[in-house]
Amino acid sequence: MKHIAIIGGGIVGSTAAFYLAKNGHTVHLYDESTGQATKAAAGIISPWLSQRRNKVWYRLTANGAAFYQTLLKDLTQLGLSTDFYQQNGTLVFKKSEKLLQKITQLAQTRLQDDAMIGTLKQLDIPQLNALIPELHVSSQALFASGGALIDGRQFIKVLRQASAQFNFSLFEQRVALLDIMHKYDTILLAVGAWLPHLLHPLGFEVDVRAQKGQLFAAQLSNTQTDTYPVIMPQSEIDLLPFKHGKWVIGATHEDDMGFDLTVDLDVLERMKQEASIWLPELQHIDMTDIRVGTRAYTSDYTPFFGLVPTLPHVYVASGLGASGLTSGPYIAYLLSQLINGQSVTLDLEPYSPKRYIHQL
Ligand SMILES: Cc1cc2nc3c(=O)[nH]c(=O)nc-3n(C[C@H](O)[C@H](O)[C@H](O)COP(=O)(O)OP(=O)(O)OC[C@H]3O[C@@H](n4cnc5c(N)ncnc54)[C@H](O)[C@@H]3O)c2cc1C
Repeated sequence: MKHIAIIGGGIVGSTAAFYLAKNGHTVHLYDESTGQATKAAAGIISPWLSQRRNKVWYRLTANGAAFYQTLLKDLTQLGLSTDFYQQNGTLVFKKSEKLLQKITQLAQTRLQDDAMIGTLKQLDIPQLNALIPELHVSSQALFASGGALIDGRQFIKVLRQASAQFNFSLFEQRVALLDIMHKYDTILLAVGAWLPHLLHPLGFEVDVRAQKGQLFAAQLSNTQTDTYPVIMPQSEIDLLPFKHGKWVIGATHEDDMGFDLTVDLDVLERMKQEASIWLPELQHIDMTDIRVGTRAYTSDYTPFFGLVPTLPHVYVASGLGASGLTSGPYIAYLLSQLINGQSVTLDLEPYSPKRYIHQL
C-alpha cells in the first residue's frame, strides 16, 4: 500500500482522498482552502442541456453526472448522509420556440447514450405555474428529470467524514510541491486554478488561467421548495432552489480578475435585478451567503488529468472550469484507479496533461 499526498482539498482532492483511503492507502490531504471553487460553487449537475460543441468535455461531464449514483451508494454503505445531493430535475428556458425545439432534439439524441437525462418533456405556462408558483414565466420550458444539484461545502464535509473511517489525515495548510516531493510514494496535485503556482518552481509552464465567480443566496417566503427543479434561463444566471426556501442565484464569470476574492456588490446587484424578473419576490429580499471563488480554465476549456510529464509519481487534475462539480468526482475516481494500477474504461488521451503542461 502506498503513502500518498494530495495537495488541494476541493471536490477533486477530497473525492480522490476518499477512494484512495478506502482502497487501503495512507492518505495525507493538504488544503489551504482560500478561494476554493468547490465551496463557492452554485451546485448544478446537468451537463446534457448545454449547447457546447466540445465532445471531449461533454463525454467527461455526462459520465461525471452519472457517476454520482456510484458515489452516493459508496457513501451510503459507510452510513453517511447523502442529503447534499438533490435530484429534482432541470428546467431550461430558451429565447425562442425554435431554440427550445433545437435543445429538445439535442437532449433526445443524447438520451440514447446517457440514460441519466431521465424523462424529457416540454412544460407549458400553466404547468410551470403549477410546478413553481413563485416563478414568473412567459414561455414554455424543457424539463429533464435527471438534473440535480449539490451543496459543495456539505459534500466536502461528508467526503472527509468518509475518509476518516480509513487511514486519512487532513492538514489545513499551504504546501509547496518541492517540500514534500520526496516524502511520498505518490502525489496528486488537485489545486484547481493554483496549479501554475505549484509547478512553476519546478520549471513547468501550465495552460491554466483563473476566473472569478460570485454568487449569492436568498431566503424566499415559500419554504416548500424541496422538490423544485433547477431553473436555467438563457442568460448568465441560474436559479437553484435548495431546501426550505433557500435559493442560490449565480454565478458571474469574470475574466482578467486573477485570484481576486473581493465581493463586488454592484455586480451582484445587477445579477439580483436580472433574477428578479424570474423570481419577483427577490426585489424585496436581502442577499445572504455571498460567495466568491476561483475557477480554473484551460485555453480550450477542456479539463485534464493524469501523470505530470517527466514526474512519474506525480498525478494532476485541473481546468475543470464551470462544470467541475459535475466532472470532479468522476475524474478523482479515475485518478484513484490509475494510482491503484487499474485500467480505466474511458479513452484518456484527449485529457492528457501533456497537452497543458510543458517543461520550460
Ligand atoms: C461561483 C462558482 C459557481 C460554480 N457553479 C458550478 C455548478 O453549478 N456546477 C458545476 O459543475 N461546477 C460549478 N462551478 C465549478 C466548480 O466549482 C469547479 O470546477 C470545481 O469545484 C473545481 O474543483 P477542484 O477540486 O479542481 O478545485 P478547487 O475546488 O478550487 O480546490 C482546490 C483547492 O486547492 C487548494 N490549494 C491550492 N494551492 C494549494 C497549496 N499549495 N497547498 C494546499 N492547498 C492548496 C485551494 O485552496 C483549494 O481549496 C462553479 C464555480 C464557481 C467559482
